[in-house]
Amino acid sequence: ASAEYDKKCIFCKIVNKEMGTELLHYDEEITCFKDIRPAAPHHYLVVPTKHVGNCKSLSKDHVPLIKRMVDLGKEILEKNNITDLGDVRFGFHWPPFCSVTHLHLHVLAPVTQMGFLS
Ligand code: 5GP
Ligand code: ZN
Repeated sequence: ASAEYDKKCIFCKIVNKEMGTELLHYDEEITCFKDIRPAAPHHYLVVPTKHVGNCKSLSKDHVPLIKRMVDLGKEILEKNNITDLGDVRFGFHWPPFCSVTHLHLHVLAPVTQMGFLS
């Protein structure tokens, strides 16, 4: 079982509104905010509101959560007028190529403008 709030975790602080980060969506289960170093014009992070560790900690039980994360990503994109899902990339960075342990889904668009913009 994962801790609900990890004192050392930056994303726990963000969802707990301790960092002043604008939350584009917040509910009991999932939260969305913009990536601080966008790698595309649209770059959102969708995270579980309660601390869940990285991809390697996931099991079958997490499938509904992941589905909701992807759906929220699509919803946020739609609100920002991105409707062509062929132009979107969703993904997790696989440990150890991942700097924040709190599970986070990257949502990027448009794919044609991906790169390191910052
Ligand atoms: P990863 O762990 O998947 O490689 O990347 C973590 C992502 O979180 C990076 O894209 C980074 O820019 C983003 N990030 C790290 N710290 C913060 C923060 O304090 N605020 C926001 N909005 N994004 C962050
Ligand atoms: Zn956390």
